[in-house]
Amino acid sequence: APQAQANAAIEDAKLIGITVDKALDFPGWYSQVLTKGEMLDYYDVSGCYILRPPSYAIWEAIQKYFDAKIKGLGVQNAYFPMFVSSRVLEKEKDHIEGFAPEVAWVTKAGQSELEEPIAIRPTSETVMYPYYAKWIQSYRDLPLKLNQWNSVVRWEFKHPQPFLRTREFLWQEGHTVFLNEKEAQEEVLQILDFYAGVYEELLAVPVVKGKKTEKEKFAGGDFTTTVEGYIPQTGRGIQGATSHHLGQNFSKMFNLSVENPLGPDHPKIFAYQNSWGLSTRVIGVMVMIHSDNKGLVIPPRVSQFQAVVVPVGITKKTSEEQRKKIHEAARDVESRLKKSDVRAFGDYNDNYTPGWKFAQYELKGIPLRVEMGPKDIEESQVTVVRRNDSRKYTVKLSELESRIPEIMDEMHHDLYEKAKESFDTHRVIVNEWKDFVPALNKKNVILAPWCGVMECEEDIKEGSAKKDDGEEFEQDDKAPSMGAKSLCIPFEQPELAAGQKCVKCDREAKQYCMFGRSY
Ligand code: AMP
Repeated sequence: APQAQANAAIEDAKLIGITVDKALDFPGWYSQVLTKGEMLDYYDVSGCYILRPPSYAIWEAIQKYFDAKIKGLGVQNAYFPMFVSSRVLEKEKDHIEGFAPEVAWVTKAGQSELEEPIAIRPTSETVMYPYYAKWIQSYRDLPLKLNQWNSVVRWEFKHPQPFLRTREFLWQEGHTVFLNEKEAQEEVLQILDFYAGVYEELLAVPVVKGKKTEKEKFAGGDFTTTVEGYIPQTGRGIQGATSHHLGQNFSKMFNLSVENPLGPDHPKIFAYQNSWGLSTRVIGVMVMIHSDNKGLVIPPRVSQFQAVVVPVGITKKTSEEQRKKIHEAARDVESRLKKSDVRAFGDYNDNYTPGWKFAQYELKGIPLRVEMGPKDIEESQVTVVRRNDSRKYTVKLSELESRIPEIMDEMHHDLYEKAKESFDTHRVIVNEWKDFVPALNKKNVILAPWCGVMECEEDIKEGSAKKDDGEEFEQDDKAPSMGAKSLCIPFEQPELAAGQKCVKCDREAKQYCMFGRSY
């Protein structure tokens, strides 16, 4: 009878568990792991989503990490309004051209039309810089380094996807101003390293660092650096976070200038600026990469809870005394873990079987399950099972406080290595156009020798929007255009052969560029 009961519980768990296969229906799977894992819920405004506590906790972990890093560089947090007048928004021409189609406008207050519509920030360059101009009176006021933790609105027309592309999203946006160009450019790369750190050290997601092409760079900036990720199931690349050098474009537009330290006879100096942003998109990338058919897999460093303690081996035949003993031992483990700063909780509800609980916490992606049963008591140990691969460990109670963090570190490392292996084996060098689309169709991103010319990049996109047999690539609503975009020009470059031609045209290649279908 206990076995039948357990089986029934497992059947129940299956119903509330994930019912689609990650390999067969990736979008359906993604939506189920997020909602059933209680990370996110859909909202009645299309493209907007609710971040429930487990995903918000991940965002808080990222904030804590990144905030400490930027404060180490002397960046301070501030908050600017979400509204921006059209006059100010439109001040930098290239910038507004880049954002115009996605800007949301407030046109009414109650029943009355506003005299002038007011935009909701899609990003805050134009919101902040008029005030920067006011505050920067002398070169002694530089560098100025501010960051906002806020949300922005981009009324995207591409298919919205939870976390990856949403109409309102949480992010941080840093806006820094320097007297000196070199110092500004150094910061761009420091920030990019922090972004790579968020992905690799916190989320166990490997990224490739590089520079965006002229076509893909931030509207109005000088150059954009980026960390790019890879989603194995779809073979698509995804822009992870970007750090822009704005040069003097905005400082000239907004008059961010100071008198020359060399004296009044020397021309005034326009400041050099950067802006950089990382959004809640990172959470979606993390989920897509690590999670599986049992539900979420959340890397331990960012998980709201890191370990769940579950008493096991209690049956109808178990004496009350023994049951109490198991529960007490489990509670003791929970409290010891908490004291040593492991984010642990216990589930002592005897109305649910351990099997049912296991399925629940697997669905939610709790990194470690810590089981305490009769045998564990006898041996002064616990049994620890990690979520990502069900690997079991026996941990002596005397080593609890040191072993659990070690197991979490190993788990982080293994998650990272697995994801890296898959990115590395699907980032292939293609030198000839005939191999380009077939390689894409095998879910690869491509490193190709490239001339650096914008029209050629457009040709590559157009030419790869077709299957290798020449038939138009089927356009589903999730992928409005499946042509390959340039993802970045990786900093780490394969060696370019002398006289190497561009993968697409007759010009000489300037460098290798990473191309891929992308989100
Ligand atoms: P950008 O200001 O366009 O360089 O964007 C900064 C970062 O925000 C990008 O690197 C993306 O990772 C992220 N991002 C851009 N658009 C969205 C969006 N619609 N939803 C979520 N994240 C976004």
